[in-house]
Order: sequence, then C-alpha cells, then structure tokens
Amino acid sequence: MAKEGHKYIFVLGGVMSGVGKGVVTSSIGLLLEQKGYPVNLVKVDPYLNVDAGTMNPTEHGEVFVLRSGLETDQDMGNYERFLGRDLTDADYMTSGMVYQSVIARERALEYGGKCVEAIPHVRDEILGRIEKAAAHNGSRVSVIEIGGTIGDFQNALFIEAARVLKMTRPEDVLFVMVSYLPTPGTLGEMKTKPTQTAVRDLNSYGVQPDFIIARSKEPIDEKRKEKLAVWCNVRKDRVIAAPDIKSIYEAPLNFEKDKLSDALLDALKLPQKRRASLAAWRKFALAAANAKAPEVRIAIVGKYFDTGDFVLSDAYLSVIEAIKFSAAKLGRRPKITWINSKDIERGGGSAVAALSKYDGIIVPGGFGETGIEGKLRAIQYAREKKIPYFGLCYGMQLMVIEYARNVLKLKNAHTTEIKKNTPDPVVAVMLEQKKHLADNKYGGTMRLGVYPAYLKKGTLARAAYKKELVEERHRHRYEINPAYVKRLEDAGLVFSGTSPDSVLMEIAELPRAAHPFMLGTQFHPELEARPLSPHPLFTEFLKAAIARHRKHS
Ligand code: GLN
Repeated sequence: MAKEGHKYIFVLGGVMSGVGKGVVTSSIGLLLEQKGYPVNLVKVDPYLNVDAGTMNPTEHGEVFVLRSGLETDQDMGNYERFLGRDLTDADYMTSGMVYQSVIARERALEYGGKCVEAIPHVRDEILGRIEKAAAHNGSRVSVIEIGGTIGDFQNALFIEAARVLKMTRPEDVLFVMVSYLPTPGTLGEMKTKPTQTAVRDLNSYGVQPDFIIARSKEPIDEKRKEKLAVWCNVRKDRVIAAPDIKSIYEAPLNFEKDKLSDALLDALKLPQKRRASLAAWRKFALAAANAKAPEVRIAIVGKYFDTGDFVLSDAYLSVIEAIKFSAAKLGRRPKITWINSKDIERGGGSAVAALSKYDGIIVPGGFGETGIEGKLRAIQYAREKKIPYFGLCYGMQLMVIEYARNVLKLKNAHTTEIKKNTPDPVVAVMLEQKKHLADNKYGGTMRLGVYPAYLKKGTLARAAYKKELVEERHRHRYEINPAYVKRLEDAGLVFSGTSPDSVLMEIAELPRAAHPFMLGTQFHPELEARPLSPHPLFTEFLKAAIARHRKHS
C-alpha cells in the first residue's frame, strides 16, 4: 500500500516523441531535491523487450547498465547524472517485465483460477511496481516518466494505472505534459493547436494535465501561455517555457526562471522548505556551455552511427557526456568528431593518417565484426604516433589484439567473437559464457553490472583514481584470454587493473615512458561519470589530449 502522504508526478509526452521528457523528469528530480524533498525517478518503457539489453543501439540508442547489472534505457543515465547518484532495478520497468511477472504468476496458479486480464491484473502489477519504487529510503516524491506519446497504443495501460492512482489519491498525484509547439517556417509563428489536441487526447483517458512544459524553439510568450491555459484548462503559471538550449544541463536553470519548483510544491501542497541551491550546478552548466573555452579535439571511432541519413550519436550518449564533464572541469570545449570505422577501412592509408589532426582518439564499446579492421588500424596509428588513446570495453579488447598482432607478431590474433577458430584467441569467452551461447541465452546473460578491480601501483590507472580498489560497471561476454597475459606483459603491455583473483584483466595500458596515454578498460567508465564528479580516467585522457593540442598548435 502507498506510503502516507507520498506524492507522485507523472511525466507524459504530447504531440511527438523526442521532446525531452527524460530531461524534464531529471530536472524535476534535481529541483525538488534542491528544495529539500528527496525523490525517486522511474522510467517506464512501453516495449515488450524485458530489458533494453537485446536492442540494437541504432534502434534505441545506448543501453545504460545499472550497478546491479540491469540493462536499461539511456534516460536512466540522465536521471543518474542529474541526481548524482545510482538508481536501482525498482526504478525501471518495461511492458515486457510487467507482463512476464503477471504470466509467471498465472502459471503458478496465483490468481486462484480467475481469468487474468489487462485490467485489473496488469494494471495492478504496474501500480505495485510504482509503490515498490516509492518505498525507497526517504523518498517523498516519485517522478515517473511514461515513455512514448499520448495516443500510443502501447503506453495506454500505464496511463490508466496513473489515472487510477489519481482517482484514489487526488491530492497526491500530478500530471505534467511535455509538449511541442512548432513554428512552421512558412508562418513564422508558434502554434499551440497540436498541444491543444494532445490535451484533448489525454482527456479522453480521463486524465487532465496539471502542468504543460512547452518545448519550442524560442521561449513561449505570454499570449500563447494564456491561450494554452484557456484551451487546455491549465493554470497560466503552470505553463512552463522550455525553449531549445545548447546543453541539457541548462534545463533546470531555465525551468526555475518560470518558477517550476515553487509551482510544483504548491500544486502538491508541500510546504516550502528552502530555496533551490543550484550554485554548483550552475557553475558546471556554464562551464559546459562556454563557447569561448579553448577546444580539445576528440575523434570517436565507432560504427553505430548511421540510421538512414542521420548520424545517431545516441548510441554513445554516456561517452559524450563523460567527455563533457571532464572537459568542463579542465576548462575546455570538446569538439567531438564521429568517424565511422567502415570509412577508415574504405579510405585506407590516407583515412588513417587523417587521424593525426585529433588530440585524442576513443574506440567505444561495440559488438560484432563490422568495422573491426578500421578500428584496429586507428588504434595502431594512435599507438605508433603517440596520440592519446582511450579504449572502452571493445576498444580495450581491440587495443590488446592490435598489440598482439603488431608487437607480439601474432598476425592472426583475434577475438573468438569474430573468428571462432583463430589460432591466437587473445580475446575469448570464459566457461560460463560458453554455456549461455550454446543455449541461445542472450538476454541479461553478459558479465553485467559492478565488479571490483585492483589497481597496480605505479600505473596510469592508479595515479588517476588515486586508490587501489575500484568498482566499475561491465557489459560484455568476452575477456582477455589469461593464456596470453604473460606474453603480452613481456612485450611491454601493462595490465594495471585486474579482478581480485587476478584472472580477469580489467585495465590495459602502456607505460608513460612509451606513450602519453594509451589505456583501455574492460568496463564502461562512462557509466559512472557525473557532471559534478567527472570520471578520473576521462579526465586523465583529456589532460593528455590537451597536452598534445598545446604541442601541435
Ligand atoms: N563485444 C565485446 C564483448 O562482448 C565488447 C562488448 C562491449 O564493448 N560492451 O565482450
């Protein structure tokens, strides 16, 4: 049963997808916490996948892994970054998860012979999950983002669950609709009609929005605020401007210009405790948006970029954000260039040599064969030309393969992910993974979530973290093959981070005497980077990139 006096804010999207519900949810969370009200944030994804782990990144963007190992949507990453803390499994649900629990219960005869139906059984499962998330230590307000757009088939049951909660606890539940106001080029005028229609759609569910967050190119003016207020039945001071901004981190600051947090507390009948103290956040947001800061040029060599004519950098969202946080700390403006590794393969020597204009190169995580040889050439170039290099997961595995091929002279060194029968499986699957693959068990079976690593004294990694034991998030099936570790070490590669039993190699690097920064991690450090506490490895990598920039300009 719901906690006495607990409050719920549902965030819904009107008009179209991609209007920034995630940023609104994260911002509301940040603002309410700054006002002295602890929150919990929940993401609802209406698709039938049980988690986000089996989806192609070009389809759905990055898979964000929680500390627990749950594979979730990239919005969860934004929530963690805005709140500055870790989320739990209870904070995420998909239709697949919800239905799976209901069906498992039905199979166990737990419904006592009743006909099991979407309403009430699935709806109540949703409500039960919302309550479980609300039971977090100390949370006073749940902010729940319902994925998709109003009018979608898929999210209707979640909106229905929210309606029932509002009906039973009218004082405790709010609806925030994030909408879009287009300014058609031919008219040059901001139009409110699509929002009016979206509100009417939402009304047909029995739900009335309390707030409208008006996404638009320019801030919505008073006249249109009034129009929306009248036509949509929303108080004018609860129509909040959300103009396009350079960086999402400015969003909470902008919302405060329209006094969003005061209006929310007022609507929830929660007393004012204190003013939101956004000083540290503001300082970071200004640094991140500073167009005058000197540049640092980073190339990301990957493959999940092309969906039709669009470049989809969403696949590497956390990597981009992690770069921004460290760059802001160092007073630099990162200029990120996307390089499709397939283009390096096609372009040959000249395409590789073009990498010399960057201050640093990153090869991020990935799966499968496409573009592999291009990435290996980029890594070799970075090593030989002493360009700072940072490899994340696949980027570390490939860094080790490149070293085995070109320094150890094992010409056929490879990962068994690509070449099952390679004579030199420098990267291979561990025993337990072999079983999963043989049984076609792909969902949720990788090495996932947080694992400890011990760092060797005197290494780059140890100097960056300034401690011996670290915990980082993983998402991979393959590992550096222990059978090759000694030979690689003898040839100069340093494994500066290992699992506590020393079997798994977690960080590989070259000594500083050999290279200014050549380091790869088996884990994903980008998932732990936060605006106000940038990740030390990203910061070290950028410092090396800045040093190269100075030398070459
Ligand atoms: N494909 C590699 C593996 O499964 C790397 C995964 C990744 O980069 N996240 O081990």
